[in-house]
Amino acid sequence: PEMYPLEASEVTQDLANNVILTTLNDLYNWARLSSLWPLLYGTSCCFIEFACLIGSRFDFDRFGLVPRSSPRQADLIITAGTVTMKMAPSLVRLYEQMPEPKYVIAMGACTITGGMFSTDSYSTVRGVDKLIPVDVYLPGCPPKPEAIVDAVIKLRKKVAQEQILERGQIEQVHRYHTISHD
Ligand code: SF4
Repeated sequence: PEMYPLEASEVTQDLANNVILTTLNDLYNWARLSSLWPLLYGTSCCFIEFACLIGSRFDFDRFGLVPRSSPRQADLIITAGTVTMKMAPSLVRLYEQMPEPKYVIAMGACTITGGMFSTDSYSTVRGVDKLIPVDVYLPGCPPKPEAIVDAVIKLRKKVAQEQILERGQIEQVHRYHTISHD
């Protein structure tokens, strides 16, 4: 039979559906979601709830979450508690020091919207997503440790759906340094 050359887009699609590539993708995602090492970061009362997870009762390690003190060893940052304007540059710097692929869970009302400081405080960032991209929002004041576990499970499901090269492309649309109080 006569052979027709494939268009470039068809070749790319053909490769994307390739069995070997799909298997590699699953293996890559499994490795990432099974070892999401969180940075030891947090402020205020929400961090107390987050700290509970490290103990034996909630046993965070069973999800492969081993807390790290260096951002260069962390895949995940759980922004627990209030983010102040003074602290914002440090938080962004910590995030930038984390290697790709990296993830963010915004934990608690203060982190997500400024919480009780969202109306008349000059010193609180009203939404951490003005600084860094957020993957999972976890509302509450404070969210219980069980809710944090649920957020991690949601993040793991999200990671399981990613393509190998997808994450770096998402990271190019950061909204850094755009804090302003209107
Ligand atoms: Fe504290 Fe509630 Fe703010 Fe968390 S959301 S830091 S518990 S005031």
